[in-house]
Amino acid sequence: MKEQTLVLIKPDGVQRGLIGELTTRFEKAGLTIIGMKMVWIDKAFAKKHYSAHVKKAFYPTLEAMITEGPVVAMILEGVHAVEQVRKMVGPTEPRKAPPGTIRGDYAHVSYEYADKKGVAVKNLIHASGNKAEAKDEIKLWFKKQELHSYQTAHQKHTM
Ligand code: ATP
Ligand code: MG
Repeated sequence: MKEQTLVLIKPDGVQRGLIGELTTRFEKAGLTIIGMKMVWIDKAFAKKHYSAHVKKAFYPTLEAMITEGPVVAMILEGVHAVEQVRKMVGPTEPRKAPPGTIRGDYAHVSYEYADKKGVAVKNLIHASGNKAEAKDEIKLWFKKQELHSYQTAHQKHTM
């Protein structure tokens, strides 16, 4: 049941100074950060990460958004971590994301507004969508030697 999942704090989250606040949410939930780094990806890497979206009409705006500055990439480990992290992140469109979720608490815009402006909807965080996606994304973003196994103080109470 223990799973690993990829989280990216996207350029809008980094540039708004939210690295600490967003990371704290995952730590407080008891998830373990087993890998972490800051990376400024190029267009070729963006196409690999968002391969499922490359042919979609909104892809050029998505590529511009994810390559506009560095992201903080982390691998989180925990029980049902893929599902738990998606729940904490909330729905893709901030307009629909309920308060209490990251996208609901730190953003508010709609697809309609982003489309009119010709930009990707800025929603602060990427999180792997399912277990298969998590497996592929972890391999794409991290080398084995960049992942660490250690005991956290609150594993006793959260796992
Ligand atoms: P992510 O993969 O970034 O965690 P997600 O899994 O919630 O987000 P996806 O469907 O994978 O959503 O879309 C990837 C990203 O593409 C979204 O986070 C958003 O920034 C952008 N996006 C998705 N759909 C649209 C759309 N219809 N118009 C504009 N941007 C979109
Ligand atoms: Mg996705």
